[in-house]
Amino acid sequence: MLCKICKAKGKREKAVIFIRHHKLALCKNHFLEWFEKQTLKTIKHFSMFNRGEKIGVAVSGGKDSLSLWQLLTEAGFETVGIHISLGIGKDNYSEKSLKLCEKLSEKLNRPLIVFDLKEEFGYTIEEIAKLSGRKDVCSVCGTFKRYLMNKIAIEENLSVVATGHNLDDESAVLLSNTIRWETGYLGRQYPVLSEREGFARKVKPFCFLTEKEIVSYAILKGIDFMETGCPNAKTATSPVYKQALAFLEHKMAGTKLRFYKEFLKKAKPLFEKEAKEEYNLTPCKICGMPTTANVCSVCRILEKIRGVNAKSGKN
Ligand code: SF4
Ligand code: ZN
Ligand code: ZN
Repeated sequence: MLCKICKAKGKREKAVIFIRHHKLALCKNHFLEWFEKQTLKTIKHFSMFNRGEKIGVAVSGGKDSLSLWQLLTEAGFETVGIHISLGIGKDNYSEKSLKLCEKLSEKLNRPLIVFDLKEEFGYTIEEIAKLSGRKDVCSVCGTFKRYLMNKIAIEENLSVVATGHNLDDESAVLLSNTIRWETGYLGRQYPVLSEREGFARKVKPFCFLTEKEIVSYAILKGIDFMETGCPNAKTATSPVYKQALAFLEHKMAGTKLRFYKEFLKKAKPLFEKEAKEEYNLTPCKICGMPTTANVCSVCRILEKIRGVNAKSGKN
């Protein structure tokens, strides 16, 4: 297959990718150009951030977040990587993830802030989940990662945190929320979450790009990333929704993009009212971060497990 853009210019260049839903076959250079343009267009369309703002990029060591870090840096934005080291020992997952983030930090010559759970709190994420009596490690992990990313951004004076969520992630969350008619979540699902007192702005510049496109970008740009996912990912439910959407996409190219884009345009505004119940936020009595209760959920969990260990004689 030949690159469509090169062909239009009378050149014969082999395509490296066929983007089915755009009916677009592109060579390496034109694909990279297209990918960067799409990302910058999304950033501009949703007014995610401006030049001159310092952007925290939440990096896990996976293809999405590392690609985002490299793209934003090369596009001239001032970036800082933020990595939460979870202490997941299986397959040396956390150690390898950290190394890949450090490697890209060196390559891009941009700083990387690392928060090590075990060093800071005394427990890995799996220990925190187990000791607090939660079966679902991923939900505890999500709570801690969101809390820490925000806390670090506020402390480091970063007005915005960018994450590598892609179209596959966003459309899977949308399908799951739609199936359960979680109208509050539907009213909130958006590529930008505005800043509020105590909360940095959260943005998803890759929300219209697929996993396949991002992995192609990462490989063509020579980014080293974790090829195996987190060992705990098996317990998450999102793969089921991803599989359902992959089936629909296979039968009808463009389903995911249409589903998500049309939701943002036509359906989200209908649910906004339900998402807008204003919560009364007060500073957490322990850490000072905004919360709806006296003590935030992260401090509550940490207090609980420290209490458990004090009773059993540990720590
Ligand atoms: Fe955390 Fe679960 Fe993701 Fe692993 S799969 S990083 S435990 S949320
Ligand atoms: Zn070309
Ligand atoms: Zn707290």
